[in-house]
Amino acid sequence: MAQESAPFASSATPDPGRRHVLDPASGLAAWLTERGQPGWRAGAIRRWMHGRRAASFADMTDLPRDLRADLEAEFRIWSTSIAVHQRADDGTEKLLLALADGQRIECVLLRDGDRRTVCISSQVGCAMGCVFCASGIDGVARNLTTGEIVEQLLRLAALLPAEERLSHIVVMGMGEPLANLDRLLPALAEAQDPQGLGISQRRITISTVGLPAAIDRLAAANPGYHLAVSLHAADDALRTRLVPVNKAIGLADVMAAADRYWEASGRRLTFEYVLLGGVNDSPDHAAAVARLMGRRAALVNVIPYNAVAGMPWQEPTPAARERFLGVLRDAGINVQVRRRKGESIAAACGQLRRSAADA
Ligand code: SAH
Repeated sequence: MAQESAPFASSATPDPGRRHVLDPASGLAAWLTERGQPGWRAGAIRRWMHGRRAASFADMTDLPRDLRADLEAEFRIWSTSIAVHQRADDGTEKLLLALADGQRIECVLLRDGDRRTVCISSQVGCAMGCVFCASGIDGVARNLTTGEIVEQLLRLAALLPAEERLSHIVVMGMGEPLANLDRLLPALAEAQDPQGLGISQRRITISTVGLPAAIDRLAAANPGYHLAVSLHAADDALRTRLVPVNKAIGLADVMAAADRYWEASGRRLTFEYVLLGGVNDSPDHAAAVARLMGRRAALVNVIPYNAVAGMPWQEPTPAARERFLGVLRDAGINVQVRRRKGESIAAACGQLRRSAADA
């Protein structure tokens, strides 16, 4: 594990009055037009942010000097700073970003063959309270802004050499993305812009604890994203124990909403299943998952638990894991085991923030 400070200096001034230039709703283009500036300048500014990695408006040397000063007064450019940067031997890199109000969030770059996947956060903390997850231990502090979500993408993209590009996004960091859809969707739209990161929607996965009304909203707004639903148990009693929000929702409603999303999108759904040793990893549990999947065109993504310090949950034994997978495969279910990456840098969501807070 290696740690280093920020690759380029950036201030995180707590200045909520200024609009974030990375937020598509910032009104940058209209602001430029009001000043009699040509429309292409908005694109030029975005290119500085994306490709040329400007740290401030002052760096945008092809803009008139007065305009740079006016931009600085009106818009914020970076609102985060890199508090910790870790690298693991397998190429995984993790950033702990300090936000302008002192909160901290995590985001991760994963390298796998040609893939350059980023895992981003949607909230500071999480309100869902899943009993095994480090992100929700202290509840949720606030939603991230659109600009803060886009900044994670650009900070991680800036870790790549110039000839490489981000290829995939998974919204699987801290927080419940469907509880912050209004800020997430514009950020993901920005990620798709061909003039910017140009990441196609098919390569963007949103992972949810399973909030039916919000799944329906996403289906109505934009069903092109790949949806992953965190299942973790195939019966209500066990799921409510592990995922407390299930108590008020229930598996039947989660599955029905997932099916509606599938109908709207036509894309195979993913169900995530964290394997907790001795808790939800028996062959009977696997058989129940297979029954629940039934004939659905779904992929079950099995995630061996990534132990969190101070929590009582265990990783599954390799034998239990293989038995569990065997039952699913024998039932004809599409299964994938999430390979663990970045273990030496506590890459599971919420872990770095906690260990940094403890230090
Ligand atoms: N709120 C979203 C995103 C959470 S993170 C959701 O619930 O889907 C993505 C996945 O990682 C979720 O399935 C989550 O339950 C799981 N997860 C959380 N902590 C974990 C840990 N310590 N080990 C393995 N998986 C974990």
